[in-house]
Amino acid sequence: MTYTIKNNCILCDSCQPQCPNGAIKSDTEQEGYWIDPTLCDGCPDLAVPRCVEACSVDSLIPLQPKKGRRKSSLLPPAIPNIFLNGKTTPFASSMVIWEACNFLAQRPPWQTEGDNPLFYARPVHRGRGELRFRLAMDPESKSPIPMPPDETTIAVAQFDIRAACIHLIFAAYAVTVDCPWEQEFVLNDQHIEKYLGLDKRKDLTKLDKLTLIKSLVHQSCQLLVALDWPRQGKVNAFSLGEQPVWHLIDTQYYFEEDSQGYRHLIGLSFTVKAGVWARHFLNKQDYRNQTAFYQYGTLPQSLLSEVMGSWQQHEGAIRLLLWLLFKLRLGGDHRLTIRTLLRIAYGETKVAEATTVRGTHKRLLKTFESDLETICNYGLRPLFDPDTYPSEIQPLWVRAAHIPDDVDAALDFWIDDAKQSQSLTDSAPKDKWQRLMNARILGFELSEHWQHTVRHRAPKRRQAPSAPRPERLSAGMIKAARQRHNFTQRALAERLGKSQSWVRDIENGRFSLSYHDQLLLRQTLTI
Ligand code: SF4
Ligand code: SF4
Repeated sequence: MTYTIKNNCILCDSCQPQCPNGAIKSDTEQEGYWIDPTLCDGCPDLAVPRCVEACSVDSLIPLQPKKGRRKSSLLPPAIPNIFLNGKTTPFASSMVIWEACNFLAQRPPWQTEGDNPLFYARPVHRGRGELRFRLAMDPESKSPIPMPPDETTIAVAQFDIRAACIHLIFAAYAVTVDCPWEQEFVLNDQHIEKYLGLDKRKDLTKLDKLTLIKSLVHQSCQLLVALDWPRQGKVNAFSLGEQPVWHLIDTQYYFEEDSQGYRHLIGLSFTVKAGVWARHFLNKQDYRNQTAFYQYGTLPQSLLSEVMGSWQQHEGAIRLLLWLLFKLRLGGDHRLTIRTLLRIAYGETKVAEATTVRGTHKRLLKTFESDLETICNYGLRPLFDPDTYPSEIQPLWVRAAHIPDDVDAALDFWIDDAKQSQSLTDSAPKDKWQRLMNARILGFELSEHWQHTVRHRAPKRRQAPSAPRPERLSAGMIKAARQRHNFTQRALAERLGKSQSWVRDIENGRFSLSYHDQLLLRQTLTI
């Protein structure tokens, strides 16, 4: 239950110092006090809340549920949707944002150095440079002070993986302005709610949503970063002192009074500006002159709702998805070892424990296969390396996906399966875990959302003429190359990590191949 202040307040200031959450705020313009309902928890440990105890004129009362509706004219200003095509948007993908998302998701250990507050350091370019992060005491402060070690330890342990979504949303807004380190942008809760899919959550009240949004925004804006960057090409080396990754310049609260005179929080808006890192990593003008970087990627809106929906049950999958967002580039070669994926999803300690403590690998393996299925269901289909990650050690859900829907075809499948040395119903080989440690994924087949072409392009830069793209693979070329290698359609499908029907369809020219699939076929069939 939250509390509110009635009109008979005599401004004695007795209550404000008593609030452990800093929920009682003074309104300098109206010279009064108000309670921030996103911070007030009603002092659940006490029979009488601290502020009520301190008030001599009974001004503090529980805020009653909202009755009736009066439309406020003070609603936060509407701003354009960043997902203009309804699916994706460009976002600043510099190492600062990647690393911020990474440690929010993975919670790696933070370090100390002498009396310095706790920090997280990430070497760059083989240790020639470094990113160093700390937390600010107050994200709304104009001159942020780093948090003391004890408070940092608690704050790091309470990191919410969903705050990574706010970093990504801010990073998407940052590319909509020319000089993001100078220009502010304003977001309101309605936009954040929509991007995160919270507008569909009927189980949360408006206040629950506002409290969550504000907490995630504050977590993102309390991050301070200092940079040492080595010279790269024509871009000179540079060092930046500690500054917020995102400056939270202002938070506006919008209230609506109900028919009983209670004021209810109905909206929030945040004025934000990118830190000075953007001058070096998101600088259109200097990028053209080749003296700064302009690093951006494509952010699918579906990723934000996936993080919000699966972070509790499939935290490992969410960590992998956030990592892959920065790692995957369309058409590139993305070979990844399973050991690397496990480290990213569950951390070095858990992987080491699973490889050294007898019996512990089984649970980790089960979680990994389930998380991989979550990623696949989301739309990123793993392409298993046929040499190191063959069918018999692949997750059961991969093999079960090959069972045809048609009854006759399914019968043929099972007859065929029984003749295989490793049938679908056989238990996994005893050395599955050891083999997985050396297994690889060739990449991920990207979903339509991740492939969607974004209109935004980096500013043009003078470049040497690039090598011409190879000729598109035709259905005939693929079939001829397969026959040259004496592969059956099934054998090729297994090598590609695809289904037999997929190979049959491309040989019949039923659909055109993505650039990534062409690359995979060229590698597998040496075309
Ligand atoms: S009820 Fe407790 S948390 Fe809420 S304003 Fe009063 S002292 Fe602060
Ligand atoms: S203690 Fe009561 S009268 Fe004094 S400032 Fe707080 S609400 Fe107002």
